Amino acid sequence: MSEHHNATGADDPRLQEMQQRLSAVRSRIAAATEAAGRQGTPPELIVVTKFHPADDVRRLATLGITDVGENRDQEASDKAAKLSELGLRWHFVGQLQSNKAKSVVRYAQAIHSVDRPQLAAALARSIAAEQEKTGRGPLECFIQVSLDDDAGSHRGGASRLDVPALADQLAGSPGLLLAGLMAVAPLGSDPDAAFGRLAEISAQLLKDHPSASAISAGMSQDLESAIMAGATHLRIGSDILGSRPALR
Ligand SMILES: *Cc1c(COP(=O)(O)O)cnc(C)c1O
Repeated sequence: MSEHHNATGADDPRLQEMQQRLSAVRSRIAAATEAAGRQGTPPELIVVTKFHPADDVRRLATLGITDVGENRDQEASDKAAKLSELGLRWHFVGQLQSNKAKSVVRYAQAIHSVDRPQLAAALARSIAAEQEKTGRGPLECFIQVSLDDDAGSHRGGASRLDVPALADQLAGSPGLLLAGLMAVAPLGSDPDAAFGRLAEISAQLLKDHPSASAISAGMSQDLESAIMAGATHLRIGSDILGSRPALR
């Protein structure tokens, strides 16, 4: 960027662009929610800010966004520290190594990508230590479940067969709150069918864990399908922020 603009000023063209994009996404969410005949709490919007600068996160806060998502610990912890005065809720949505659990519990309100027992155990240990130190509240945990037909593709997540044990483990860990499920629609397949499977897995989970009703699903491309399938948390990046800057 060649010129500095005040991130909250009315003369900031980036803020205006983001405002327009956000309002288009909000209209899509409202239309899809109505088309799905959904009553009650509308889906929560989490804006995924990965690769975008902290100033863009500031702009989002100016626009009334309260929940942001990141997929790499280093980037997330840097931004969360820099922007702590904004009071944002940080959602971790990426694959996570167990040795990063200690860092993530310092800033994250929720983690959407719990996909294996070792990670759940590391999060349980880390949140216990963090709560003792800071008195912070529980960490909301979503089990990421794979919706791939063949186990060979790479969008991550536990097999649906592993969900019950992982759910019991999370629910039995003090400091962790089993929120529900998260999934990413498989590349190149019909998101309606994929999110339909997710809704079935969620219904199954609710039999044993009636409060774990959250469904984190829906990105820029497929938010309508996700809302139709009952998504409670949408994770939207590029349609609000534009395409992600190349990695440096
Ligand atoms: C990047 C990302 C998103 C946002 O995707 P967009 O297509 O940019 O809306 C959502 N969920 C996860 C897990 C992501 O990594």
